[in-house]
Amino acid sequence: MQHRYQIIQPGWTITVNSGFEVLRDFAVVLEDNRIQTLIANDAVTELPCYEQAEIIRLPNCALMPGLVNSHTHASMGLFRGIADDLPLMEWLTAHIWPAETRWVDAQFTADGFMLAAAEMMRSGTTCLNDMYYFPDTAARCAQAIGMRSVIGLIVLDFPSVWARDADEYLHKALAAHDEIRELPLVSSAFAPHAPYTVSDESLRLVAMYSSELDVPVHMHVHETAAEVAEAQQKTGLRPLERLDQLNLLNSNLIAVHMTELDEFEIERIAEAGVSVAHCPESNLKLGSGICPVATLLERGVNLCLGTDGAASNNDLDLLGEMRTAALLAKGSSGNASACNARQSIEMATINGARALGLADRIGSIEAGKYADLIAIDLSGLNTQPVYDPVAQIVYAAASRQVSHVWIDGVIQLRDFEFCRLDSDEIVARAASWAQKIRS
Ligand SMILES: [Zn+2]
Repeated sequence: MQHRYQIIQPGWTITVNSGFEVLRDFAVVLEDNRIQTLIANDAVTELPCYEQAEIIRLPNCALMPGLVNSHTHASMGLFRGIADDLPLMEWLTAHIWPAETRWVDAQFTADGFMLAAAEMMRSGTTCLNDMYYFPDTAARCAQAIGMRSVIGLIVLDFPSVWARDADEYLHKALAAHDEIRELPLVSSAFAPHAPYTVSDESLRLVAMYSSELDVPVHMHVHETAAEVAEAQQKTGLRPLERLDQLNLLNSNLIAVHMTELDEFEIERIAEAGVSVAHCPESNLKLGSGICPVATLLERGVNLCLGTDGAASNNDLDLLGEMRTAALLAKGSSGNASACNARQSIEMATINGARALGLADRIGSIEAGKYADLIAIDLSGLNTQPVYDPVAQIVYAAASRQVSHVWIDGVIQLRDFEFCRLDSDEIVARAASWAQKIRS
């Protein structure tokens, strides 16, 4: 079989390897969908593949691993702006759940997923961790457009557009898991929505399936102080304590939000290897609380970064989220060294990959990994001069400066333009949904 080679020659390569090496004037060589090697630019012509390779010179750009959005509800993009400036439970019960009952079906999921995936790709995200209805539809969309995705197999207690009861959610989750196994760019995670919407019985089964199949569990946990207080009143337990009793606190769990944590809980999740998906902008916008990022980083908890859905953020820009996370950690801890620029990039790349069980495949620029890469053009006024490209990306760059995106070795964005997606078509479909929903 004929191999396909691409040689990318960026000004800087931010590897996000274990030593966080930043290389100047190195080439990254891709063979088909993988990173073959990293080599100094002046030795590149000696490579056996040089003559047949496509050479992509990006002297003004920093190349880094594609961003991993560790928590989103992609298709909710079609609800962006329908209910704002409200607290979580009012937003959810008075606006989002009724709108979902009225509007969500397979076509909604597909059109919403395309809108979100395009927005994410355009802003440097190459892998997303989703939680929504119609996971089979979302998975097929992801594979069709070439977006690496972990698709959440939603589990709830109450009826929705996707399932009637707990049994049907679990049945459909397992069926979707089997279907998704056949898709090379997509994998699945169990996605019980939250402790307050899923029973002990379902959670026990999720814990069992997750351990048998070695599949992550993706769940909102301790999003607000009210959630924790209400659970204590009803069950006598804080939600994390209940999840512990149900065998869910382990390295398969991605606990999203986690704004309310006491000292004992921090120790417990650190020891259990739980990953925390921090969604700073969604937490700020819903007034939900602040995840204690500085402390979690100190304790070695695997912290990753998510946007949440566009109905509570309201964008899906992980680069912006990196900056918010860094600033919020400093501001809330009173420590300017907390969540430094490197840690912020790790949260958005390798830590997300680790949470999703993909750290041996994506999340850093190292030989053998899949070529999920982005280039950020630093030649603009707001990112000049460049003393440190890492600080520049976290504290000064905007997502519109993402110039190139590769997912699985396929170039999806070249010189700021989509190569495969038709953004006019995607926008037209979103506008037509808005017209229906508004009327
Ligand atoms: Zn969420």
